[in-house]
Amino acid sequence: MTRALVLGAGIGGLSAAARLAHAGYQVQVHERLPRPGGRSNLIERDGFRIDTGPSILLMRDIVEGTFADVGADPAEYVSIRRLDPAYKVFFADGSRMEAKVDRAELRAELDAIEPGAGARFDDFAEIGGRLYRGAREHFVERNFRTLREMFGISNLPQFVSLRVYEPMHKLVGRHFSDERLRQLFTFNAMYIGMNPFTAPAIYALLPYNDTVEGVHFADGGMYGLVEGLVRLCQDLGVEIVCDHPATGVIERNGRAAGLRFADGDLEADLTLVNADWPWAQRRLLDREPRHPLPGRKLRYGPSAMNFYLGVRGDLSGLRAHNVVFGGDYAGNFADVFAGRVHERPSYYVHVPTLVDPSLAPDGHHIAYVLVPHSNSDAPIDWASERDRVRDYVLTDLADKGFDLRDRIVLEEVIDPPRWAEEFSLERGATFGLSHGVSQVGYLRPHNKDPHLDDLYYVGSSTHPGAGVPMVMLSARLVTERIADEHPPVRLGQVVHG
Ligand SMILES: Cc1cc2nc3c(=O)[nH]c(=O)nc-3n(C[C@H](O)[C@H](O)[C@H](O)COP(=O)(O)OP(=O)(O)OC[C@H]3O[C@@H](n4cnc5c(N)ncnc54)[C@H](O)[C@@H]3O)c2cc1C
Repeated sequence: MTRALVLGAGIGGLSAAARLAHAGYQVQVHERLPRPGGRSNLIERDGFRIDTGPSILLMRDIVEGTFADVGADPAEYVSIRRLDPAYKVFFADGSRMEAKVDRAELRAELDAIEPGAGARFDDFAEIGGRLYRGAREHFVERNFRTLREMFGISNLPQFVSLRVYEPMHKLVGRHFSDERLRQLFTFNAMYIGMNPFTAPAIYALLPYNDTVEGVHFADGGMYGLVEGLVRLCQDLGVEIVCDHPATGVIERNGRAAGLRFADGDLEADLTLVNADWPWAQRRLLDREPRHPLPGRKLRYGPSAMNFYLGVRGDLSGLRAHNVVFGGDYAGNFADVFAGRVHERPSYYVHVPTLVDPSLAPDGHHIAYVLVPHSNSDAPIDWASERDRVRDYVLTDLADKGFDLRDRIVLEEVIDPPRWAEEFSLERGATFGLSHGVSQVGYLRPHNKDPHLDDLYYVGSSTHPGAGVPMVMLSARLVTERIADEHPPVRLGQVVHG
């Protein structure tokens, strides 16, 4: 049988392993951390089960497709439901609103902020829907093996119709004049680590996704999805070995011949690297990570300062997803992307226990706080920055009526340097390489190595990009490519030629 080794059991690696096994490869996954999931990991302590990374589940069809495409019933592996409201928003002037699922209710919420905005939302959502469907068809759900495939005559009109060269905040600004709604419909760019003020308008597909396609939740939290993927892999015969870091790739006669480990080498017919692409270039292949086009510099996304709190007592008044805007929206992003500290940042609070109480002991909740932050490359004193951001968030939440300070029974923090070291992320960039127009499609690191045969990549810093559904698509695209270039030889099959 054709033997495939997968380096890394992130959501991308697990999704690819399942697809490869289903296609007829013999698959083994080797993971450095004690449990699978990668960034989507777990803090499990004192009866709490807290997700470390992703929390907002979008594009349900792609998530469920990962199971259905390999002949499994998604419902047997993961239980997903849509959240209503998608999130609650706290604006800096003290006003609040909820992103309701029902269109009439959502319109009323928007009208209360800016009269007439509800009707204009319909038009905005229509554009967002077109961008979403167009982006998926022309840019996201396909492999780009040559520059021509991306910039060829047949694809060029899409660059115009998909508003690749217009900034997202301008498109939003044409529909909504109240600053609060402009924030509401641009902050979502941060889902992929983009600055709303430089993100191209195509990313207006993100607020469309939230409000129209829906924000979903997996029972058991995001790790419930990881567990579903692990079970799927096992049912398909994939072997997952944790606590087993690879130290390099075996390079022989111009091809990757497997992986190196401290306890010996493992040979394979093909090797699929799920570890963060730039991290893997530097640490496993001993190369400087380079942009696919000669002479262009790679751009890295930002990071996050995460606080994971186990809290005694009630958190009603919050929703599962809460976005809290600081006073200086533009300045906040300017600082994050320039490697500076921002005094009063916007942040996000996830309370999964409002949806799935089994994630905490009786009478307790989880408050997962994510503060978008410059990455670990920034010249920042991280120990004092951690304390400063913690004080700011807890005081700000108390001012809003949610005083957690005397109720915290469990606390952990992951700051940008910890994202880098513990989760093997170059510069601690939580969403990997940035997603500007110069770094998507063919211009993003490819899923096949340009120098070594039989070496492939899956995950956030490769095409199509970051986010749970995107890395699942990345898994689909790379396995399609592998099956095409390296069809599996099954046991008993006679190989000719
Ligand atoms: C704080 C945070 C919040 C996020 N929020 C969201 C969200 O709400 N919604 C969303 O859709 N996405 C979100 N994301 C993004 C999403 O989590 C990622 O895009 C996705 O999980 C990445 O999966 P991956 O498979 O590409 O990489 P990873 O999860 O990084 O997996 C790579 C794996 O490779 C392993 N590895 C590295 N080196 C080695 C080695 N030498 N040997 C063996 N194994 C190795 C790593 O340990 C890791 O397990 C968030 C990410 C973070 C960090």
